[in-house]
Amino acid sequence: MRRTLFLFIFLVLGVVFWGVAGAKDVEVRVLLLRTRDEVCLSSPSGLEVRVKQRVFVASPGRVLHFSPREGVILWQEKNLAGTTFVVLPRGECIFLGNRPYRGRLELRERGGQLEVINVLPLEEYLKGTVKLEASPSWPEEALKAYLVVARTYALRNLGRHREEGFDFCATVHCMRYGGVFAEDPRTNALVEKTKGIIVTYQGKPASVVFHSESGGYTDSAKNVWGKDVPYLVEVPSPWEKDTPHAFWQVVVSREEITEALRRRGYIQGEVLDLECRKSEKSGRVASVLVRTDREEVELSANRFREALGVDRLPSTFFDLLREPAAAQPQEEVPLQDPEGERFIDYKAWMEKDWNLDDIITFLKLREEERRRKREAQRVSSLPDTRPEKRLVRQASDAFTFVGRGWGHGVGLSQWGAVGMAKEGASFLEILHHYFPGCELGRVVVR
Ligand SMILES: [Zn+2]
Repeated sequence: MRRTLFLFIFLVLGVVFWGVAGAKDVEVRVLLLRTRDEVCLSSPSGLEVRVKQRVFVASPGRVLHFSPREGVILWQEKNLAGTTFVVLPRGECIFLGNRPYRGRLELRERGGQLEVINVLPLEEYLKGTVKLEASPSWPEEALKAYLVVARTYALRNLGRHREEGFDFCATVHCMRYGGVFAEDPRTNALVEKTKGIIVTYQGKPASVVFHSESGGYTDSAKNVWGKDVPYLVEVPSPWEKDTPHAFWQVVVSREEITEALRRRGYIQGEVLDLECRKSEKSGRVASVLVRTDREEVELSANRFREALGVDRLPSTFFDLLREPAAAQPQEEVPLQDPEGERFIDYKAWMEKDWNLDDIITFLKLREEERRRKREAQRVSSLPDTRPEKRLVRQASDAFTFVGRGWGHGVGLSQWGAVGMAKEGASFLEILHHYFPGCELGRVVVR
């Protein structure tokens, strides 16, 4: 890439003391769209179109149409073809269809498709990630921590899609980016307030990452990606009790697991059993031992999760309950508990301070309670001639994952940061906690 970057980092020791003037912004290139259809561009303040060293001006509100045609882009209004068009707003933003973006748009042809790349300053880019990667309603210090981490992440990962001619895609692969629609006035002000601040380690931008919820303890880069990073280590995150994914339960059939692991080439046989190996420190799953009818394979928990699908298995902080493989004869269950009481003492459970074992026990009990209720309903609807004993078919040939948290679990836990901020922590304290040994610095590009 043509960009030459000089990064000057000023370490900050507790007190934010900058005073560096004339700092230019880093520019980032974000792929917004790849399409075979035409795209419409407009701006309430008018547009400037640059192609082949020529400059055209479009009046405010006028809609321009571009489409891919055999190796070039065709600007329909002018019947003009070119390999690259650069379109700039004459005011604040440019609309791609009905979505506004800051900066400028580059249109180009690639493999029969039209690509739209948004080129804009890093700080503006960060503003357009907030509603998709965080939430404007979070406490200020948690948002500042997010912004500093997101800025550092973006700087460290510039050129992630270099081969394709841009820096970032606008999806979860890089960071979700939505332009002006994903901004909020409050967080825009925080971007300005934290402008240029990044996380550093030994004077260099740190290789930071973030996730949504750790579930109570973060994971290390070593466990998850097999890479030792001194500040991406397991740290407790006890502020995540009322988070959106504090507890979850997922049932996955043996067949689905077999197929998922075969697709990645990890196994050849049929899965018989799974066994979790946990980190002693955090209690998160470090690896999963997969036994099949042909082999025994140990996969890192992260690989296992990615094979199953990161949306299917929300995190690697789970426990495994295996359901019996086949139908088994069982004692008939009573219509109700002998004492006629509820099976679970919910009140006592709710007052408890839960740990992972409690969650598992509770979920087991709740499953048992549901089963009893279902049985009771079934039995009560049977005719009087019902047999004394019968076969109770156990729930499918499946594995139940019970766990907590959302995401890979490494680095900053966003909901942990929210919890810390609610208890009065500053963004500096939050970052020191999730990235032990790191400092803050400010990046200046010249
Ligand atoms: Zn990407």
